Amino acid sequence: MTFQKLDRIVELKVDYKTLGSLSIGAGDQPQSTVDTPVVRIGGKPVIPGSSLKGALRSNIEAILAARGVDVCVPYTAIPNEVRKEGKTGEYVKKIGRLQPCDPQRKVCPVCQIFGTAGGQVGLSGRAIVLDVQLAAEFDPAILAERTHVAITRDKRSQAGGALVSVEAVDAGVEFIGEIRLVNPEDWMVGAILRGLDVLAKMGVGAKKTSGYGQLKVKPRSVMIHTLTTEGWKEQLGDLEAYRKAFDTHKFGT
Ligand SMILES: [Zn+2]
Repeated sequence: MTFQKLDRIVELKVDYKTLGSLSIGAGDQPQSTVDTPVVRIGGKPVIPGSSLKGALRSNIEAILAARGVDVCVPYTAIPNEVRKEGKTGEYVKKIGRLQPCDPQRKVCPVCQIFGTAGGQVGLSGRAIVLDVQLAAEFDPAILAERTHVAITRDKRSQAGGALVSVEAVDAGVEFIGEIRLVNPEDWMVGAILRGLDVLAKMGVGAKKTSGYGQLKVKPRSVMIHTLTTEGWKEQLGDLEAYRKAFDTHKFGT
């Protein structure tokens, strides 16, 4: 893949609304070992772009695999022990994926969007996922404290009845996020939109089953920024046309 000059940025604005509580990760609590969708940045709850990007990547991987398109599994998603035992080949075969793409060769559609991750010198992707921020001014009243009895992981029993409080963002809180694609093909923009559909269905983070992590996800607009001889020009794009471009795209095998 040759280096392309920057001449087009497609920018998606996405609205999110919590339908259940979203737990907030805290570094010094046992809960930090589970996947918490929200962190605090400057005191305010934020859904980090990096974790959203990871969720979108695996959603799009699953959609394409279901369509029979060959996609790889990112190096970092292969369990350590599998890698250590050199059983990566068997592992990826079993889960119906390709070995992590080699950036020196033809890369799979997922890596074309998100880049190749880990293991070796990577190919950078086209998608830039920004942190998802509160839509309104931060009001501490949107935070809720949930108290649980601590359960030790190994014994699955109550750890001396100790109470652990988990901080969470309440239901009904609105967030807004932005996803940018640099010089994308139309199907790539559609892939992101389809990945967001799955996010709405599946929720984010761990604890999805206990009412945590459910999100309403609604792409608001798509803006196409094109670099012309007179500078950047903006033009609104058509969300539905991008979805269709992805749904009907023929991926070479
Ligand atoms: Zn790949």
